[in-house]
Amino acid sequence: MKIILLYGGQSAEHEVSIISAHTICQLIMYGYYQVQPIYLTKDGRWLKGPLLEQPPTSVKQLTLEEGQEASWANSDDEVSYGVAINPGEIQEPDVIVFPVLHGPNGEDGTIQGFLEVLNLPYVGAGVTASANGMDKIISKSLFDQIGLPQVPYVAFNALDWRTNEDEIVQRCEGSLIYPLFVKPANMGSSVGISRVENADELKAAVNLAFKYDRRIVVEQGIIAQECEVAVLGNDDAHVSVVGRLVKQQDFYDYNEKYINNTVTMEIPADLPESVTARIQEYALKAYRVIDGRGLSRVDFFVTSNNDVYINEINTLPGFTPFSMYPLLWQETGLSQRDLIEELLQLALRSHETKQ
Ligand code: ATP
Ligand code: MG
Ligand code: MG
Ligand code: MG
Repeated sequence: MKIILLYGGQSAEHEVSIISAHTICQLIMYGYYQVQPIYLTKDGRWLKGPLLEQPPTSVKQLTLEEGQEASWANSDDEVSYGVAINPGEIQEPDVIVFPVLHGPNGEDGTIQGFLEVLNLPYVGAGVTASANGMDKIISKSLFDQIGLPQVPYVAFNALDWRTNEDEIVQRCEGSLIYPLFVKPANMGSSVGISRVENADELKAAVNLAFKYDRRIVVEQGIIAQECEVAVLGNDDAHVSVVGRLVKQQDFYDYNEKYINNTVTMEIPADLPESVTARIQEYALKAYRVIDGRGLSRVDFFVTSNNDVYINEINTLPGFTPFSMYPLLWQETGLSQRDLIEELLQLALRSHETKQ
């Protein structure tokens, strides 16, 4: 059996994807599988070759200037890297595709749709779940439908903003209390997200978020602990223990996630049993309502009086050495190697039985 590992990609989470791909590659059981990495460049080319040579923690070591985005030192220098292929060429017998791609064009259903058309088994959520999970406006409305508690929010698109900017600011200020969090609907790794404290900052943050998506969500800021839980499975999905992010800073932004890496994880989180149970129950409900399959990491806020709010669901969570998803399973009793094997088996099962 051959595993085709798709990584890199055109989203702002390109670098995170390269680290995830390294981590996953080290966990695959080579006795059973052959691995063919395919690097998706930032300008959309597919290159077949060995995994980009970078130590998995390099992003951590990058130093960023104010306003500069993290960029992988060698990721654009792929002249001697591999052979350009037509994406359709990955269609071969006996392959499983592992899309290790975060963010738009990877985690949002587009790649999944392409793989459906090629009729190949692939790891993780299908088209619907990927699109539902990636789009924070859609997932919030699904969570509302099944009564999962969430912080109040206002959603709008670029056309609304162009025609009614003042009215939208008034709507935010009328229904939400500063600080607010402004997010592109489709993104991850905190890219394009800002915390704002007044109308001027709100407008600037909305314009920044529009660089990443044409749909925006503005949320009520909440003072809370952040807890995350892992889901694994198809129709038989189950949940891991709950983890808590121990942060030096309120806003878990890109720099804190991947550069400074000041965040540590408490696994399992020291929470009352009833809170843990609620988080696990909500996570499974969220997974089902988006039509989850394969895996997801579900993020929560827990306030000081133990109120639980769902924040978001990630259908292709980070798989770096400092990522929560694999660690949650490890602490639940499933080794990282067995986790990868389970994901591959789930992909095959879902391809064969549509379950
Ligand atoms: P990822 O997919 O990497 O988890 P993301 O880009 O989808 O991230 P969120 O998880 O929604 O973004 O938010 C990123 C971080 O911003 C959160 O982990 C939290 O630290 C902070 N944050 C987001 N929304 C709120 C909120 N409403 N109140 C307080 N903090 C928030
Ligand atoms: Mg996310
Ligand atoms: Mg994400
Ligand atoms: Mg999150």
